[in-house]
Amino acid sequence: MIEPNALKKLGEILGPGGLIKDAVGLTCYSYDAMPYSPEGNQRVMPDAVALPRDADQVCEIVSLANEFRFPIVPRGAGTGMTGGARPTMGGLVLAFSRMNNMEILDKDLTARVQPGVITSRIQQEAERAGLFYPPDPASSEACTIGGNIAENAGGLRAVKYGVTRDYVLGLDAVLGDATRIKAGAKTVKSVAGLDMVSLLAGSEGTLGLVLEAWLKLLPLPESRCTLLALFETADQAASAAPAILTARLDPTALEFMDRYTIECVADQLDELGTNIPGAMLLVELDGGIGDTKRRIRDVRSICTDLGAYNTRISDSEEAREQLWKARKAISPALGKLAPFKIDEDVAVPRSRLAELVRGAGEIGLKNGLKCACYGHAGDGNLHVNYLVPAGEKPAGAEKVARELFELAISLGGTISGEHGIGTAKRMYLELETGRAGLDIMASVKQALDPKGIMNPGKLLPKDYDTMPGYVRKNTE
Ligand SMILES: Cc1cc2nc3c(=O)[nH]c(=O)nc-3n(C[C@H](O)[C@H](O)[C@H](O)COP(=O)(O)OP(=O)(O)OC[C@H]3O[C@@H](n4cnc5c(N)ncnc54)[C@H](O)[C@@H]3O)c2cc1C
Repeated sequence: MIEPNALKKLGEILGPGGLIKDAVGLTCYSYDAMPYSPEGNQRVMPDAVALPRDADQVCEIVSLANEFRFPIVPRGAGTGMTGGARPTMGGLVLAFSRMNNMEILDKDLTARVQPGVITSRIQQEAERAGLFYPPDPASSEACTIGGNIAENAGGLRAVKYGVTRDYVLGLDAVLGDATRIKAGAKTVKSVAGLDMVSLLAGSEGTLGLVLEAWLKLLPLPESRCTLLALFETADQAASAAPAILTARLDPTALEFMDRYTIECVADQLDELGTNIPGAMLLVELDGGIGDTKRRIRDVRSICTDLGAYNTRISDSEEAREQLWKARKAISPALGKLAPFKIDEDVAVPRSRLAELVRGAGEIGLKNGLKCACYGHAGDGNLHVNYLVPAGEKPAGAEKVARELFELAISLGGTISGEHGIGTAKRMYLELETGRAGLDIMASVKQALDPKGIMNPGKLLPKDYDTMPGYVRKNTE
């Protein structure tokens, strides 16, 4: 529990309306988009929620947390899939929704953003200036740039443009021990010292808090074009993906959807009617107009040669948008098939994608669960969803997830391509990093956050927990 004295000081720092303590308000900040955790899905209420207005208030709060030793759970929009923004033992949720200023610095091709800015707003404001912010998580209409940096979010355009970390030039941040630092720079190049931006990006709020970021922008591509290709089998579609990449056609996005995931959004894809294909690829290209048209025709030929029985090219903005809207709707739409899903995001070297799709299906079959797969084929990053039927308990979830992670690692892959570890995967991290890998991460944490106040119960497994003595409150 946060001591009453500390709560009083929090109220003074934040001013009227800045500190939530009522039960309804606390409940709203006790969960995020994580569908499942092997440690149990019980919700833990925070003791309070802070809504700071500026970086100085945040820094004062971190100093106070060190003095009174209470946990801080940073929160963007709560769209994280691995429980990163959920309290695990009470403490203070620090929500960045009121820190949402941004400006485009068009002469520098950069943007200065506060952590609470919604990602799609950065994309839109950049486009208005003729510029382009490439990272595009499917949750872009809701998630924040602070959450994207903390998770090093990927998304639809990573195959050509990379992930969030590739666009963060500099950060203003406060570390767990309350030291405020400038990491990186406002320039496109900087090799001044250790790369602290890369350390903080993807650290899931366990080392410090992002207070402001400088992002790299690119010139807006002249044209975009999307191809939809329908295949009889998932194997054919998964094999076509690496063929498109090795043909050097440079797709901006290369997305795979299997039969079940297509079924969920078929009403948004009118050309499918009732005839659902076995699998589908959605491929987008960008660049100069003539060049894009030539390359998309080459992509179509590859798909047809490898078994696509139907293709459609969309170059109008409206038709393209509809396709990508349907793609972005898959995750929530999977609820139509089953009330509960074990939702993982493993990644493998791209040439092994077809083996991953096959193996993931076999694990489902063996465990009596329907397996729905979709995702960023261009990155070898697959969202594997095991669907648990209504009325059944996800009793074998831990076993199914472990089998999938072992498969991904045996194919040379990783247990998380973009959703992070949070609470949902922390018990599996050792499978990938080994004990030595965990120990070195714990040493970094100890150096930057010696009292263990930053997002405890996340990323590192239970035996590394830094606040074992903190009293849990109001669990349900
Ligand atoms: C429908 C759907 C589609 C998605 N698609 C994608 C996708 O394509 N690609 C992808 O990568 N992810 C995707 N995600 C996952 C999620 O949207 C991303 O992880 C996103 O980056 C989370 O942002 P958020 O603002 O919601 O952060 P939250 O969920 O609030 O927090 C995420 C993590 O960041 C930490 N954090 C938040 N703000 C800060 C800060 N200022 N400083 C330090 N730490 C902070 C939190 O403590 C937590 O650990 C999807 C999620 C959903 C629900």
